[in-house]
Amino acid sequence: MAPVPPAFTLQGSGRLAGKNAIVTGAAGGIGLETSILFAREGAHVLMADISAPALETAKAKLLALIPSASVDTKVCDVSKEAHVQAVVEALDPKGGVDVMFNNAGIMHGRDDDAVNTPDDIWDLTHNINVKGVWYGCKHAVLSFRRHAKARASVINTASVVALVGSATPQLAYTASKGAVLALTRELAVVHAREGFRFNALCPAPLNTPLLQDWLGDDKPKRLRREIHFPTGRFGEAVEQAQAVLFLASDESNFVNGHDLVVDGAMSKAYVTPE
Ligand code: NAD
Repeated sequence: MAPVPPAFTLQGSGRLAGKNAIVTGAAGGIGLETSILFAREGAHVLMADISAPALETAKAKLLALIPSASVDTKVCDVSKEAHVQAVVEALDPKGGVDVMFNNAGIMHGRDDDAVNTPDDIWDLTHNINVKGVWYGCKHAVLSFRRHAKARASVINTASVVALVGSATPQLAYTASKGAVLALTRELAVVHAREGFRFNALCPAPLNTPLLQDWLGDDKPKRLRREIHFPTGRFGEAVEQAQAVLFLASDESNFVNGHDLVVDGAMSKAYVTPE
């Protein structure tokens, strides 16, 4: 069986000291773990999510781990431009955003193949997963300019399904994540001379509610996916968060327009170990 993820220390070394960071989908798996690491590394973190109660629970978890953290929350539906704008502008009195993590996304239970995906599910998925990311990028750029940032980092969450085809189709989701990769790449090139970096994160299937609630107790459905992991296990949200931290920090200053695949070699595997 695969090695379990290492325990990560709560001791930071100031990799994001002095930076203001926004995390969308901050009450969920990747978003919360990333908020914790960002706070640990000295950032002021603005956690944004559509669910007010989940956001409060997530903030409490963060503060229980890092009592000295500088953290705020804001309820936001990323598919609504005015909400995203309000989140970004909330950081204006603090000097504007430096790190924007456009992470909120959905995978709907009625998403299916070309024949069976309902029109409304296609639109809902794209409004959140694609338009939400676009609004985040747009208002981040406006803020970077407003505050004359010489360097800034935007990270957009895509998925491995943007890179490899899946015989368990979720066509609207897959198409939405392909769009995230394409728009991230283009923005990286457009804004490179302003010092604004744009990178995409491509997570493998993870141990987070988004996937695990959907798989439930269905063992065959679960095995259908697990078998493709050379490691023999799903990824953990914190393993994604570590990669996001690198992209957010100045250590990745020359990493731009990159699709960072964090998947335990799942997308590189032909036959996996028995
Ligand atoms: P999650 O379901 O644990 O968290 C997602 C969070 O986004 C939730 O807190 C939810 O309330 C919030 N959210 C949903 N709709 C929103 C909206 N309209 N506006 C603001 N917030 C909203 O999911 P996760 O696994 O942490 O996923 C985070 C990102 O990673 C998503 O973009 C997802 O597509 C992507 N991803 C996940 C997996 C996986 O297996 N979990 C794999 C690849 C990519």
